[in-house]
Amino acid sequence: MPSYVDPEKCDGCKGGDKTACMYICPNDLMVLNKEEMKAYNQEPDACWECYSCVKICPQGAIYVRGYNDFVPMGGQVHPMRSSDSIMWTVKFRNGNMKRFKFPIRTTAEGAANAYPDLKCDNLDDELLSTEKELPTPDPAKRA
Ligand code: SF4
Ligand code: SF4
Repeated sequence: MPSYVDPEKCDGCKGGDKTACMYICPNDLMVLNKEEMKAYNQEPDACWECYSCVKICPQGAIYVRGYNDFVPMGGQVHPMRSSDSIMWTVKFRNGNMKRFKFPIRTTAEGAANAYPDLKCDNLDDELLSTEKELPTPDPAKRA
C-alpha cells in the first residue's frame, strides 16, 4: 500500500532544497519533479507504509493507497498534525468516518535518545546491547 502524492495539493514545499517528504522518508523514495514542483514516490514497491511522509507533509498532500484486493472499496486513514496532538481520520469503506486524537511527543528535534544505556563499545562479547552480564541458565528448563 504505497504512498502517493495528490498533485493538486502538493506545492513542492515551496521550492526548498529538500522537501519535507524527501527529508523524512527512511527509504529515500520521495523525489521532487522540479519542473512541475510536485513530489512523487519513485519506487512504490519499496514503500513500507511507515506514514512518516504522510504525517510530515505540510499540505496534507500524501496518502497511503490500499491495494484493491485488501481494501477493495477504498477505506483510508489520514493524519492531521498540530503542535501538541495528532488527529487520525479513518474513513471506512461503508462511508463511516471516525476521528481519534492523541497527544504527540514534544521532544526537541534531534534531542531524542531512545537508548541512553546502549552498550556498543565491545562488539566481540556475547552480550546483547541491553545486557550487563550473561543471564544464568535455569537448570530446571534444561531438557
Ligand atoms: S512534503 Fe508534501 S508539499 Fe512538500 S513536496 Fe512532499 S508532498 Fe509536496
Ligand atoms: S510511507 Fe514511509 S517508506 Fe513510504 S514513501 Fe512515505 S516515508 Fe517513505
